[in-house]
Amino acid sequence: MIHGTDVVVVGAGVSGLTCAVRLAEAGRRVLVRSADTPSSTTSCAAGAIWGPHLVAHERAGQWALESLEVFRELSRDPATGVRMTPGVEASRDGLETPEPGLGAEAVQRCDPATLPPGYTSGWRYTVPLIDMTRYLAHLAARLRDLGGRIAVRRPVTAAELPGLGAIVVNCAGLGARDLVPGDDIRPIRGDLLVVDNPGIDAFFVEHDTDEDGLTTYVLPQGGRVMLGGSRYAGEWSRRPDPGVARGILDRCARAEPLLSGARVREHRVGLRPVRDRVRLAADERYAHLIHNYGHGGGGVTLSWGCAGEVLALTGAAAHTTRRG
Ligand SMILES: Cc1cc2nc3c(=O)[nH]c(=O)nc-3n(C[C@H](O)[C@H](O)[C@H](O)COP(=O)(O)OP(=O)(O)OC[C@H]3O[C@@H](n4cnc5c(N)ncnc54)[C@H](O)[C@@H]3O)c2cc1C
Repeated sequence: MIHGTDVVVVGAGVSGLTCAVRLAEAGRRVLVRSADTPSSTTSCAAGAIWGPHLVAHERAGQWALESLEVFRELSRDPATGVRMTPGVEASRDGLETPEPGLGAEAVQRCDPATLPPGYTSGWRYTVPLIDMTRYLAHLAARLRDLGGRIAVRRPVTAAELPGLGAIVVNCAGLGARDLVPGDDIRPIRGDLLVVDNPGIDAFFVEHDTDEDGLTTYVLPQGGRVMLGGSRYAGEWSRRPDPGVARGILDRCARAEPLLSGARVREHRVGLRPVRDRVRLAADERYAHLIHNYGHGGGGVTLSWGCAGEVLALTGAAAHTTRRG
């Protein structure tokens, strides 16, 4: 148990830092324990565009909308790395692009003639794009301003987890595999290339059937553009593969010719922490241990909604702990 701390949050990715900020804003003394710096997390490998994707929970839509409100607010300050961005989602080969659900702004069906070659249907809309390097730095700074601390140290073990603090919030992402033995969390590998921005200011996202592990997206982030992508289920390797990078560049340049010949500054690989259902609940054995992991390809999108839920659960846990 750590003196002078009310809540220990395990994990310094987007889930952990967002929860830590919410808890600190509510007056809790928060310590974040993490095996990695924020810039080395899966969260930092994300594109990132708002929209629940590869994530399962009956409340995912609601958490996404709650987060959207916060991202809209954050986009007023460019230093946060959040920007409301217009763009196009399109499908190939006669696959119908579904109309964007609640949350997307300025929604308009695309004239197929305006779509890149090979794409046959699409929608134009505006959603938040989040530059994760800047955004995680923003969250960490905000937490420190609120008196919270971040300690990057060796990994916490499963045996240590319940005893870390009066209240413990497990935001370990794929690391939950070690912290919760037997959990069904598993990776879906994603590759992302960072290139200089040749003058792109709208996003492009392919809507596809997830069948071949490949997709195409172009996400402008100021002076850089994030290009994707891949979805390799069950793949644990984080080693960049030049063949995968070439495929991403080719597909993105076909969708956006300004990218032809783009020089790759960085090849990021992240493992999306996927579960059949996000785990956001108090532990069955330890009421003071709250789990918040398994957000798949939508952890950024759901982050503020889930953090609100964690805050409510910590209130209940504190009550139980005091009575017990
Ligand atoms: C290529 C790619 C693109 C993506 N694009 C999007 C997108 O556009 N929009 C979107 O919403 N989402 C996107 N995602 C998904 C999103 O990145 C994840 O859902 C999200 O990052 C999960 O965040 P997290 O904080 O739960 O986990 P992580 O970011 O993995 O953080 C886990 C933290 O726990 C720590 N940890 C783990 N085990 C231990 C331990 N035993 N002891 C101490 N610390 C531990 C780690 O060090 C780390 O700090 C994308 C992912 C990838 C890979």
